[in-house]
Amino acid sequence: MGTASLEKRYTPLVILLLVAALVVVFGLWAADQAQEDRGFSHPGAIDGQVSNERFEWKMVTTWPKNLPGLGTAAENFARYVQEMSDGRLTVHVYGAGEIVPAMEVFDAVSQHVVDAGHGAAYYWKGKVPSSVFFTGVPFGLTAQEMNGWLHFGGGLELWQEAYAPFNLVPLAGGNTGVQMAGWFNREINSIEDFEGLKMRIPGLAGEVFVAAGGTAVRIPGGELYTSMQTGVIDALEWVGPYNDLALGFHEVAKYYYYPGWHEGGSTLELIVNRESMEALPPDLRAIVKYAARAVNQEMLDEYTARNNDALRVLVDEHDVQLRRMPDDVMRALWRSSEVAMQKLVDTDPMAAKVYASYKKFYDSVRAYHHISEQAYINARDQAMDSPVE
Ligand code: CA
Repeated sequence: MGTASLEKRYTPLVILLLVAALVVVFGLWAADQAQEDRGFSHPGAIDGQVSNERFEWKMVTTWPKNLPGLGTAAENFARYVQEMSDGRLTVHVYGAGEIVPAMEVFDAVSQHVVDAGHGAAYYWKGKVPSSVFFTGVPFGLTAQEMNGWLHFGGGLELWQEAYAPFNLVPLAGGNTGVQMAGWFNREINSIEDFEGLKMRIPGLAGEVFVAAGGTAVRIPGGELYTSMQTGVIDALEWVGPYNDLALGFHEVAKYYYYPGWHEGGSTLELIVNRESMEALPPDLRAIVKYAARAVNQEMLDEYTARNNDALRVLVDEHDVQLRRMPDDVMRALWRSSEVAMQKLVDTDPMAAKVYASYKKFYDSVRAYHHISEQAYINARDQAMDSPVE
């Protein structure tokens, strides 16, 4: 076999190898370019696809701009989204009344006037009766239990189902923990003391309060101080010491009652218009979801850290009269709550469906928390009350 025949035999192979080498080199160069693009001119490459599209959202809230806790959660959400997306999604936050009044947040997002909203689901119970479960119901779940039900007990899926007809995607966007029963201009010694009392108290609790002989009104947070000061209302509930101190309620009411029988761990909501959500690429949708999850937990952390000091300021510096709701008042309120709940599930099929899920979770978590959270807190107190030595 001569050289010529060898060359003849191997030439096609050499050409093939050269072509393969060129493909590899070009591939490496292209990948390198893509890498550069990711870092500089085209942020946001996912699975090799480069997207440099930027999105701007308007988010309206039911809170005054930057209200501690509730309002800052919306601002924090915007900041986390900005940071995680490297500026590809910018959320502009507007306080109550800047674009729409507080109580029009739901409609504004539903009708795509804006892209997103931050508020509380139970504000919309006139439109969506089942929405009360997604904030909290009287004598209902605590913050820890709400988070368990929403994220691992089917609650969030039901919330999405309830809001789907309104073109809205809901997410949990904060939790206040146990609230206070509220501010009163008179002492409450029996259930009869609610007779004729006009109180700002939303959700199903409003109906319970009415059953107890009072009048319930729905007033946004930013208007509560003036309403109490001018005598439009005799009592109000808002959140707890940290928020209530910021709004100055100690200047317009004397008695501060606990515990918040009507809101044992209220979830705040973050709603997004469906088209706005679907316009986002998958990575930005994930960022929205996880930023909401972050602020949901963060709000609870902040209240847990700040309520204690705020209560001390209210009592020690502002002479607020701290009072515990009497046991028989609590029992009467619980009985009324059961009646209001029955009426709700009898009149709204979706509320009945949500209640079935909520109640199943409630019964089981309550039984477990008797021997865990509750037993632990009781044991801790008892141990400290008994001298060790
Ligand atoms: Ca409240």
